[in-house]
Amino acid sequence: MTTIDFSKSPDGLVPAVVQDEQTGKVLMVGYMNEEAYHKTQAEGVVTFFSRSKGRLWTKGETSNNFLHVRQILIDCDGDTLLIKASPAGPTCHTGADTCFDEVNGGKGQFLNYLQGIIHDRRVNPTEKSYTTSLFNRGVNKIAQKVGEEAVELVIEAKDNNDDLFRGEAADLLFHFLVLLEQKNIDLDEVITILQGRHAGK
Ligand code: AMP
Ligand code: ZN
Ligand code: ZN
Ligand code: ZN
Repeated sequence: MTTIDFSKSPDGLVPAVVQDEQTGKVLMVGYMNEEAYHKTQAEGVVTFFSRSKGRLWTKGETSNNFLHVRQILIDCDGDTLLIKASPAGPTCHTGADTCFDEVNGGKGQFLNYLQGIIHDRRVNPTEKSYTTSLFNRGVNKIAQKVGEEAVELVIEAKDNNDDLFRGEAADLLFHFLVLLEQKNIDLDEVITILQGRHAGK
């Protein structure tokens, strides 16, 4: 079993990655010196050494959004800590649950990733796949599905249920990507057209 070696780093600080034990999300990263590490173990809530404050800092000391320690792991060469914790509230001082925010385009890139999966379901048909079954039914059926999902979105737009509206928006995006794939059109080609129109303004 490895032990943590604070002398490996010239300032005696090791990075401590805090992960939500429930969701697996990385909540924040801070530094610990030996004292912070022992305090964390003794009290069961995460205490860092804050470089900006120049002192020990118990996360949650003013906000009460403590990070309750569930498990502490040490990496293979003993210079990094991974702390699985249960957060008492939002970890980031902005009020977000995690300090890590996707960089611009992060969510949009998922559409490209999803398009790759949809393509794979067409070229490598699998029996249980709903996406494969759509391709088996052909372009007319897929186009019809896009129309149906668009109508469902319109219907939900008139209701006051935002969750149903979001769900139908997702259904429409998915079937739209399936139709693009059926037509051998890359999502990027469509985005390029949008960008061209934007630049033309
Ligand atoms: P707290 O430890 O949550 O009581 O917050 C006390 C102070 O620590 C805040 O005013 C911020 O300056 C700082 N702080 C809180 N949360 C974070 C965080 N996740 N990352 C960096 N600084 C933080
Ligand atoms: Zn390491
Ligand atoms: Zn933050
Ligand atoms: Zn739907």
